[in-house]
Amino acid sequence: MRDIKSVQKIVVKVGTSTLTFEQGNLNLKRIEELVRVLSDIKNSGKQVVLVSSGAIGVGVSRLRLSERPNDIKDKQAAAAVGQCQLMSIYDEFFRRYNQVVGQVLLTKDVITNKIMHENAVNTFDALLNYGAIPIVNENDTVSTYEIMFGDNDRLSAYVANIVDADLLIMLTDIDGLYDKNPSEIDAKLISEVQEITDEIRNNAGGVGSNRGTGGMATKIAAVEIACASDTKTIVMDGSNPAAIYDVLEGAEIGTYFNVKRN
Ligand code: ADP
Repeated sequence: MRDIKSVQKIVVKVGTSTLTFEQGNLNLKRIEELVRVLSDIKNSGKQVVLVSSGAIGVGVSRLRLSERPNDIKDKQAAAAVGQCQLMSIYDEFFRRYNQVVGQVLLTKDVITNKIMHENAVNTFDALLNYGAIPIVNENDTVSTYEIMFGDNDRLSAYVANIVDADLLIMLTDIDGLYDKNPSEIDAKLISEVQEITDEIRNNAGGVGSNRGTGGMATKIAAVEIACASDTKTIVMDGSNPAAIYDVLEGAEIGTYFNVKRN
C-alpha cells in the first residue's frame, strides 16, 4: 500500500480526453461522477482544487465550428465561450452537493512575477479557508506565447506549488505511465516511480491523443515541477472517477510518482 492516507490538500487535474467525447462534446455523466467524488472527498475534511481543461473544445462544439481553429484569435474566442459553459456546468453540479466553487484563471505571470505569485497564494488560501473548491484553468483569452503555461499538466503542477499540495492527481485516458509506447503489445504499466531518469523521459514519448495536448511527456514535466513543493503525483485513468476513493486509501492504481525534491 502507498503511504498517502494522510494527504490533506489535493489538486486534481482533468484532461480534455476525460471530459469530452471524441467529437468534442462534454461527457456529462463523467463530469457528474467526478464532481460527486470530489464533493465527497471535500466533505471528508480534505481540501480540493480542480484544474480543468476543455474550454477550447467545449467552445468549438458550442459555436458549432466544424473543427478546432488554428488561428490564435479564433482559439481564444472559442476558449471564452467554452470556459463560460464549462464553469456553468461545474457550478450546477457542485451546487447539488452543496459545494461552492470559484473560478481562477491564471497566466504564467503568477510564477515569474513575485507580487502576482503572492496574490495567487493568498487568493487560493482565502478560497480554501472559505471552504470553496477553486476551479483553475489557463486564462486562454489573454494568454500569448510569452505568458502561457502551455499545457494544463504543467499548470496543475504550478498550482500544486502555489497551494503547497500534498498530492496531485492527473486524470487521463490511460491507466498510467507505461514502460514504452502503450500501443505496443508488451508495454507494461509502471506502478511507482521514485526518480525521473532519462529512461522515464524517453518512455513518456511524444504527444498524446488528438483531443489532449501533451501526452505523458508533459505529465513527467509536471511531476518534476510538483516535487518542488514535495507534492506526490498520481497519473490514473479518469474514466472511473470513483477509483479516486481507493487511491486515497493507498490502493495501487495508476502510476505513483513518489519523487523527492532535489
Ligand atoms: P490528457 O488530455 O488527459 O492530458 P493526453 O492525450 O495528452 O491526455 O495524454 C495521454 C496519452 O499519452 C495516452 O492516451 C497515450 O496515448 C500517450 N502516451 C504516450 N506515451 C505513453 C506512455 N509511455 N505511457 C502512457 N501513455 C503514453
